[in-house]
Amino acid sequence: MSAREVIIVGGGVGGLCAALALRRAGLQVKVYERAEDYQTLGAGLSLWPNAMWAFSLLGLADEVAHRGARWRQTVMHRWDGKVLSRLDVNALCEELGQPTVTLLRADLQQVLLRALGPENVRMAAACTGFQVEGDEVRVEFADGQQARGDCLIGADGLRSVIRQQLRPESRVRYSGRTSWRGIVNVPTELIPEGSQFELYGQGTRFGICHLGRGPEGTWRMYWFLMARAPEGGRDEEGGHREAVLRHVRGWMAPVESLVQATRESDILRTDIHDLEPLSRWGEGPVTLLGDAAHAMVTDLAQGACQAIEDALVLAKHLREGGDLRQALRAYEARRRPRTKHVADMSRRAGSLRYLRNPVARWSRDVLMRALPHAVALQQLRSVVAHDFLA
Ligand SMILES: Cc1cc2nc3c(=O)[nH]c(=O)nc-3n(C[C@H](O)[C@H](O)[C@H](O)COP(=O)(O)OP(=O)(O)OC[C@H]3O[C@@H](n4cnc5c(N)ncnc54)[C@H](O)[C@@H]3O)c2cc1C
Repeated sequence: MSAREVIIVGGGVGGLCAALALRRAGLQVKVYERAEDYQTLGAGLSLWPNAMWAFSLLGLADEVAHRGARWRQTVMHRWDGKVLSRLDVNALCEELGQPTVTLLRADLQQVLLRALGPENVRMAAACTGFQVEGDEVRVEFADGQQARGDCLIGADGLRSVIRQQLRPESRVRYSGRTSWRGIVNVPTELIPEGSQFELYGQGTRFGICHLGRGPEGTWRMYWFLMARAPEGGRDEEGGHREAVLRHVRGWMAPVESLVQATRESDILRTDIHDLEPLSRWGEGPVTLLGDAAHAMVTDLAQGACQAIEDALVLAKHLREGGDLRQALRAYEARRRPRTKHVADMSRRAGSLRYLRNPVARWSRDVLMRALPHAVALQQLRSVVAHDFLA
């Protein structure tokens, strides 16, 4: 392959991983990111063994694992504390030889940016579109600048401008749910180290996990609340915490106290969308990666993990040489079924979690208690154990 330069639009987890993997495959890469700076404001991110395996291939697994905390078991509860089931995540991790790690998204971005070299990312570069001119792609930016390369990767997220130009018919779907995410440092571990607690309420789900140690011996905790809500809903100025508390008053400890302890500025609210599966991703020297290609609902915590898989598979195809356009089509053919499977499973998981009807919830809870552990583990294995490079 004789690609002079690969242009990546979007410097999120997917774009940065793609840049790293492509550089290691011997290509020249430049990333163009719309934001002026990487936000330190945070949210947590879970990286399952499929993503950690990718990081081990990039030589970053130890550093990534060191920045976060191990996730060893999930304990699912009804809102009032009754245990519905437990999942031994560690057993699966040991079988697969990779951990599951939760960490601050900003910490992961820092690790990636440092490994890539910040000089390879142009910040404040908002792409507005592209033109294919012969063998070249010309990419245009809002400030009037342009970039030229042999290949363009649209890694610009859910509202991708690259996808909108390639596939104007693509459709972003609202899941019917919004999310609040909070980060807080607390003096004690609150839940057993290595555990993720999930609690189910009426159309709501609350999660708690560790993200490693905070300053001065504190524990850095990440929590999230998913709740049914109309699309585009907003909390009053300074009202995120109160909005969350309205959903979780009276819930099992430490839910309320954790939310109470979180600074308003450390809570994010985001509506949850996914992308209707695309029948084709790219065209000519242009393709898509990550959420731009296959945004999925968050119920399996796999969106970023799949973007990371994309990055490694893309690098494998471009490294293998031959015709650039054929290599991009081979990458897409490889990734479309896999990401559709994970997106479908995520939607299915979501369809059982936010039930409001008391009879349906009772039946779901009975099912959760009755589901054999081996079956639950097998469902998870089919997502996180995929040998995506084979
Ligand atoms: C509440 C919530 C919890 C989640 N939890 C998890 C989890 O635990 N594990 C997991 O694997 N996934 C999780 N996800 C999903 C994950 O966040 C996404 O799948 C992941 O961020 C996708 O990465 P990406 O690089 O494709 O897109 P993004 O992270 O969206 O990055 C796209 C980048 O492109 C930039 N950009 C956008 N437009 C332009 C433009 N025109 N020009 C230049 N740059 C542009 C953006 O600024 C951004 O930096 C979660 C998502 C949500 C909403």
